[in-house]
Amino acid sequence: MSGFLSTEDLPEDYRDLKATVADFAQSVVAPVAAQHDRDHTFPYEVVKGMADMGLFGLPFPEEYGGMGGDYFALCLALEELGKVDQSVAITLEAAVSLGAMPIHRFGTEEQKQEWLPRLTSGQSLGAFGLTEPGAGSDAGGTTTTAVLDDDEWVINGAKQFITNSGTDITALVTVAAVTGTDTAGRKQISTIIVPSDTPGFEVGPAYDKVGWNASDTHPLSFTDVRVPRENLLGQEGRGYANFLRILDEGRIAIAALAVGVAQGCVDECVRYAKERSAFGKPIGANQSIAFTIARMQARAYAARTAYYDAAALMLSGKPFKRQASIAKMVASEAAMDNARDGTQVHGGYGFMNEYLVSRHYRDSKILEIGEGTTEVQLMLIARDLGL
Ligand SMILES: Cc1cc2nc3c(=O)[nH]c(=O)nc-3n(C[C@H](O)[C@H](O)[C@H](O)COP(=O)(O)OP(=O)(O)OC[C@H]3O[C@@H](n4cnc5c(N)ncnc54)[C@H](O)[C@@H]3O)c2cc1C
Repeated sequence: MSGFLSTEDLPEDYRDLKATVADFAQSVVAPVAAQHDRDHTFPYEVVKGMADMGLFGLPFPEEYGGMGGDYFALCLALEELGKVDQSVAITLEAAVSLGAMPIHRFGTEEQKQEWLPRLTSGQSLGAFGLTEPGAGSDAGGTTTTAVLDDDEWVINGAKQFITNSGTDITALVTVAAVTGTDTAGRKQISTIIVPSDTPGFEVGPAYDKVGWNASDTHPLSFTDVRVPRENLLGQEGRGYANFLRILDEGRIAIAALAVGVAQGCVDECVRYAKERSAFGKPIGANQSIAFTIARMQARAYAARTAYYDAAALMLSGKPFKRQASIAKMVASEAAMDNARDGTQVHGGYGFMNEYLVSRHYRDSKILEIGEGTTEVQLMLIARDLGL
């Protein structure tokens, strides 16, 4: 991908990918989404289908089992999946952008050879362990510690709200931990790969969430967890900075997922507004309903333009932090606003769980919170403006 891409005029390979994932989303994901949401079950069969299509390997080189594509290709796939099922979309986003990407970006050749083929094939999932009970937005407040003892890291502490951390196919969690202090007395945070079967590593019970019910989220605890010294990911003391880089990219992916939701709500509403009649005419013939849906389309389009721009900057090696934060913020707000308006357009039916807009309504709130809250995005944008 090079330069700015029009949302209406994608090159053929991106269009083909988008169409293939859209077809998969409609034919495989949509039919089981409501059931997994209701039962709070992880959609292993859908994950297997995404693995078979190569979606977990989209932005990784072929030598590590990837598809040789780029981050924008991942975003296009997330947008299509997000239209019909946010749980499935976030499972892919977290596995690729948060699970495998830190190893690809910062791993040694040995670490890449050991872990990437499993992760890029979708046979296993990796998780990203940054947030703690007392440190979310302020992730620098990490208190989990890792101390070297006999060429092993000994890890103690707790993580919370960690996506993909407790599935049957979870292979590892990359954990942010304090490994010392610098000469100025500031905490040095490093990242360490912890395989899921390591003694002392406990996965707590799944959370009872408002939405994303088919996505896997757990608290984690580490009690004298020992892993080899070579499991350090990236330079010692650079873990916090490295995770922030991963989150910058991840914001573009979350924006893409959110645009899927915003557009999915538009598509549902256009269909419903033509079908549903009141006072002797389709509800869409009322200007207030038509304008509501038109505004929803405008939000989805503007948010899509924002994430395309951020992705184009990132892939051309230019600074993209501000644009990623803007895209994440406007897209998550568009998703939330469109889910609320979409539910209103559906009237009482919109409050019934069998309607997609109702699931989007429950699922969307987290988009304004995860991978940096709206307030954190505003802090980053303001800082970038020199304020
Ligand atoms: C379903 C789910 C999945 C998640 N998956 C992962 C994962 O895989 N890995 C991971 O590491 N984390 C994960 N998270 C954690 C998520 O990233 C954090 O919840 C998020 O960053 C917010 O942190 P917090 O919950 O501690 O809120 P807090 O940081 O306590 O924030 C509370 C409120 O205060 C506001 N606030 C905080 N500081 C300021 C400030 N300086 N100025 C203005 N407002 C401020 C926030 O914006 C927010 O509104 C997940 C969370 C959820 C709910």
